[in-house]
Amino acid sequence: MVVDPAKLRIVLYPEPVLRQVAQPIAEVTDEVRAVAARMIELMHQAPGVGLAGPQVGLPWRLFVANPTGEPGDDRVYINPTLTTAGSNTAREEGCLSLPEVTVEVIRPEAATIRATNRDGEPFEDSAGDLLARIWQHEYDHLDGVLIIDKMSPIDRMANKRALRALEGA
Ligand SMILES: [Zn+2]
Repeated sequence: MVVDPAKLRIVLYPEPVLRQVAQPIAEVTDEVRAVAARMIELMHQAPGVGLAGPQVGLPWRLFVANPTGEPGDDRVYINPTLTTAGSNTAREEGCLSLPEVTVEVIRPEAATIRATNRDGEPFEDSAGDLLARIWQHEYDHLDGVLIIDKMSPIDRMANKRALRALEGA
């Protein structure tokens, strides 16, 4: 195994890996499954509702999500593609790689995701509200996009101190 899942940690902005475009996962191996399991663990510890590969230092097209925090509600999306639908809605978002930062992000309210699961099988799911938003936020991470890229001038002022602390760390 190239990656030791036990050593994975959540990386913080401005770690360069967060700005990379992540690469597709060629095959769902035991290594990928172990990484996904560790990401689920880190997501719950944080606690958060989603975590993407680049956030644990891996430029892999993979993210995990859990909209309710219930152990049975863990989801793994490998090589996802996303289509969005519905009207745009604004909602405050945080990010485990940007502690103390909140940004009001406008996104379509619904989405359909196609991905590969932990067994290497393709699946499709549709959602609205929180889950659709988590998908869009995590999908952005796979393309190196962060919520601070979507800040309004007001958000920029409100988050100035937190961002400066991260950039100076
Ligand atoms: Zn995030």
